[in-house]
Amino acid sequence: MTTIIKNATIVTGDAGRTVLHDSAIAVDADRITAVGATNDLLASNPGAEQIDGSGKSVFPGLVNCHTHLLATADRGILEDFGFPTTLRFPVTTRSLLTPEERQVMAVLGALEAIRSGTTCLLEIQTGVQGYAGNLADTGMRLVLADSINDVDESKVRDRVFEFSDSRLDQGLQRSADLIQQWHGKEDGRVTCFMAPHAPETCSPGLLRRSREMAETHDIGYTIHLSQSTNEVEAVMGTRGVLPTQYLFANGLLGPRLVTAHCRYVNSAEVALLGGTHTAVSNNAAIAARRGAAAPVKELQAAGCAIGMGSDNMAEDMVEVMRAGLFLERVRRNDQMDPQPEDVLEWATRGGARILGLGDETGTLEVGKKADLFVVDMMRPHLVPTLRAVSSFVHNGQPADITSVMVDGKWVMRDGKVLTVDEADIVQRAEKIGHSVWRRLLDRYPNVPFPVTLPSKG
Ligand SMILES: [Zn+2]
Repeated sequence: MTTIIKNATIVTGDAGRTVLHDSAIAVDADRITAVGATNDLLASNPGAEQIDGSGKSVFPGLVNCHTHLLATADRGILEDFGFPTTLRFPVTTRSLLTPEERQVMAVLGALEAIRSGTTCLLEIQTGVQGYAGNLADTGMRLVLADSINDVDESKVRDRVFEFSDSRLDQGLQRSADLIQQWHGKEDGRVTCFMAPHAPETCSPGLLRRSREMAETHDIGYTIHLSQSTNEVEAVMGTRGVLPTQYLFANGLLGPRLVTAHCRYVNSAEVALLGGTHTAVSNNAAIAARRGAAAPVKELQAAGCAIGMGSDNMAEDMVEVMRAGLFLERVRRNDQMDPQPEDVLEWATRGGARILGLGDETGTLEVGKKADLFVVDMMRPHLVPTLRAVSSFVHNGQPADITSVMVDGKWVMRDGKVLTVDEADIVQRAEKIGHSVWRRLLDRYPNVPFPVTLPSKG
């Protein structure tokens, strides 16, 4: 059965950045079968279900190239007290969540993602397998990665970096299990990545074997890179080179690699990343919260493909796009560059490409998977709709998004998420958030903490 959204503005997100006014898009099963003039599509699909898109714009689904959904438990606290957060507490709240609580917090993040027009995300978390099924049930397109390292985590706070073969083997085994169970599942809607955690927490052996395993399975791999001055100092101290140089020396750089952050890279590192065609997830909103911006334009000019990610505490990719526009203009004191179309490209086509999904998703073109969202443009902050992309990137809100389709199926329709009991998840997540922070403070009562939690009960 073909579905046609008609009389809409179609933001194709294609290489020519084509925007079609008073047009239509046709979807049959999981694929886009036509994009063009409304009358033409209706004439060639006489039996199609018709959805009126008057006053609406249809965008390619947003692709989040770097997130940790369980960090929703830290929302409202860890945005404001620096990084690494474990310098304040010896452990994270994530490590104190029960398996069931992890499932709830992951689905909470997925709900926020869907409501912000995100159709695909790369979730990076140790033990992601424990809630992969819950995420798959949301209907989102997923790239799943088990975060692995081989450092003794209990000593990292004291800047002692000791590595163990047993942790290396355990991490690779978890990754192998995840790939076996999930890669290519749900009709290809779920794929997997390797995820060595970060330069300071991974030995040369773990880096090399992660890359080998990714190549064996023909998948990509991702790593945090240059996300903090602590990381730069640690790698300089233990390896004698900068983090990017350490990855290069151990064969990790290349087009299969998605580096996240790149906030403190120097020009030599930019040249290494570009020259190896390594990809970068520009996590602009968390970068702004951390007070340090990546040199995105320089990375792109050097040869890096760019995607965007939300990272911790928030899954709102609409905000990530706007932060990406603002932050890069402020960083370079430039009033016109990047343009909203550049940022949308990073968050759609660029992201799909760097996750190895460029042939399947990221644009609204015939033959691609039907991953899209519909925006009600008849809003006080969006009209007049002269440039739909600019209106939405500058002024759009997740609440303007009425419907979201992934793989040809509506996961949200007319404001209601169809795949998740939203009210139930929000209520349970609220209780879990209070409970897990209480647990952390009870366990470490002598750690100074600048937040007063609401009283019990
Ligand atoms: Zn991260």
